[in-house]
Amino acid sequence: MNPPDGPDARFDSVSFDDASSDTASSDTVLFDTAFFRAWITRVADAVEAEREHLTALDSAIGDGDHGANLSRGFAAVMRTFDVSSPRTPATVLVLTGTTLISKVGGASGPLYGTAFRRAGQALNDAPDVDLAGLAGALGAALAAVRKLGAAHDGDKTMVDALAPAVETLDKAVLAGASPRDALTAAAAAAEAGAEATIPMQAHKGRASYLGPRSVGHKDPGAASTALILAALRDTAVAIEGGHSGADAGGDTRSGDGGEHDDGDDTSGDDTGSDSTDHVA
Ligand code: ADP
Ligand code: MG
Repeated sequence: MNPPDGPDARFDSVSFDDASSDTASSDTVLFDTAFFRAWITRVADAVEAEREHLTALDSAIGDGDHGANLSRGFAAVMRTFDVSSPRTPATVLVLTGTTLISKVGGASGPLYGTAFRRAGQALNDAPDVDLAGLAGALGAALAAVRKLGAAHDGDKTMVDALAPAVETLDKAVLAGASPRDALTAAAAAAEAGAEATIPMQAHKGRASYLGPRSVGHKDPGAASTALILAALRDTAVAIEGGHSGADAGGDTRSGDGGEHDDGDDTSGDDTGSDSTDHVA
């Protein structure tokens, strides 16, 4: 899965400009619309490849539909991109979220849908964004999931994968890490966070109905969040593979999450509305 030179891996319009800032990075990497579309395409591929695994995880502590839910949702996102080609990073993410909300039921549809929409709204109408902007968007996604789902850290949900990823990414930005290093660390943090849900008892979602019997299984939403972060890392690594001299190392450890943007939509392509239902 995720061939590095897949059909949407178009990196020709990604810029690597000389940095004028005082960060440790020697280059400023800007993520453009093609990058965001390539990321979401990788997510769709990964979800399809891991569909049975996600279903198996959800069968153990839920109702066994998480793989099918996300597969249906991201397949619809791919069709939406074909029909209405998004023209900004924000539009890619808002369109992704709107489509997930309309096509995916259960808990994960509104949660992921709102997360992608809020991430897109945080980017405004910029034609491209830097690593700090990307980190801010993921922080907005986390805030949206926390607000809608009301899950705390350790409740055995997707928050337990997303929160450490955002923390790690924020710290990497402050340290001046390269996007490759920062997103590699963020993906590793999400994966570790998903693994760490295994011994947890669920306090949100269907798995919470099992009480102590939810212990001993990885949370499916945390697993899919780790896939999404891994796809982001792979997309960034593929960019650097196509451009030399963009590697400036940096160390990455914990920091604070991002902030929530409750502002208006940023794109004319966005016709949906956020779910305001509370996800239990
Ligand atoms: P459903 O549980 O409705 O069948 P899915 O199976 O698609 O929906 O998604 C389940 C995942 O959603 C869980 O593994 C968990 O990560 C996430 N989830 C459920 N409820 C919440 C919540 N309140 N806050 C955050 N994440 C949640
Ligand atoms: Mg389910």
